[in-house]
Amino acid sequence: MANLPSHGPLHDADLHVIKDAGILMANGRILAIAHFDSLRQEAAAYIEIDFPAVALPGYIDAHTHLCWAGARYEDYARRLEGLTYREIAAQGGGILDTVRHTRQASQVTLEQELLKRCTLLQSQGVTTCEVKSGYGLTVSDEIKILQAIRQANLKQTVELIPTCLAAHVCPAPFTNPTEYLTYLESQLFPVLLQEQLTKRMDIFIDEGFFTVEEARGYLQHAQAQGFQIAIHADQFSRGGAALAAELKALSADHLEMSTLEDFQNMQKNDVIPIVLPGCSLGMGRPMAPARQMLDCGLSLVMASDWNPGTAPMGYLLLQAAVMGMAQHLTMAETLAAITVRAARALQLTDRGQLSSGMRCDCAIYPCRDFREILYHQGSLKPARVLTAKQFGVKNE
Ligand SMILES: [Zn+2]
Repeated sequence: MANLPSHGPLHDADLHVIKDAGILMANGRILAIAHFDSLRQEAAAYIEIDFPAVALPGYIDAHTHLCWAGARYEDYARRLEGLTYREIAAQGGGILDTVRHTRQASQVTLEQELLKRCTLLQSQGVTTCEVKSGYGLTVSDEIKILQAIRQANLKQTVELIPTCLAAHVCPAPFTNPTEYLTYLESQLFPVLLQEQLTKRMDIFIDEGFFTVEEARGYLQHAQAQGFQIAIHADQFSRGGAALAAELKALSADHLEMSTLEDFQNMQKNDVIPIVLPGCSLGMGRPMAPARQMLDCGLSLVMASDWNPGTAPMGYLLLQAAVMGMAQHLTMAETLAAITVRAARALQLTDRGQLSSGMRCDCAIYPCRDFREILYHQGSLKPARVLTAKQFGVKNE
């Protein structure tokens, strides 16, 4: 995935496929990649993979809500029975159900649940995963979640990138969303900065969540405090993508309802679109127009949105393969969207491609041709997954 254009359409011929390759590594970093025979003399020791194999950069899941307690299978069943989001919430389901369970859970319980999910991620080839808070919705519960993410990050080898999504939805007893956002700015932001719990801030803009007007001031305040900003934008109604462009947010995520005008606006302001096919699969809704985004010159990223309510699958490669076919994306476009382009969406410059100087994060598949990986739509599993953290490289 080295030396690919960062934006716009890609063809499989753009990929740099190295045959009979060796990867020379030290301390979790790649020193060189070349023909195996030419590197063998340079290595103090080597492991020969004794089956036909393809190595890809480890996947980067740039949008998840991985830290929660409880389960929402009842919501899933209600959705299949035809109930709407609002009706499900009225019956005690929805985000606030996860908030109740997450508030009740101890930090240690949250950490243990997160560790289990990280084991699954790594077995699927994911080596970096963004994780949002947002099921606490009080200062102390949001901090508990971000501390659980920090602790889980120290105890396993997928690198977790935390994001504060305290502005997920306006919780009781607040009746005015602006008052809740002001509370977060004055009470939560200083702790996040003091404890260095995250560099990233997100907000959910949509009907029933926060309006563009409410979000604008909050995000400007976050930017002034030095946070990078991402936005849950245009899932059910438009407005969030335009605000992302106006504020030059790092990414606008979801975008199922966005139009050409939004994409052109995002392109001018270098906002990265993160599309979430797992959420479309979890809700039975149309996928975001990923083909159109690439054709507008955007840098398409795909993520799993793994969460208990609307995207319970948590399997990035499968979702990317399905969306790639549904949206007519080349394999290069789909693979870039979960590796090198996803790295850029998290501002990580040391991963997402296999080349010298990068982390050694990689997924090694038992197959002869890289095209077999997406062709199997997720059913072909990596035989081995390496992460730089296994070799002592510290978290960002
Ligand atoms: Zn999300």
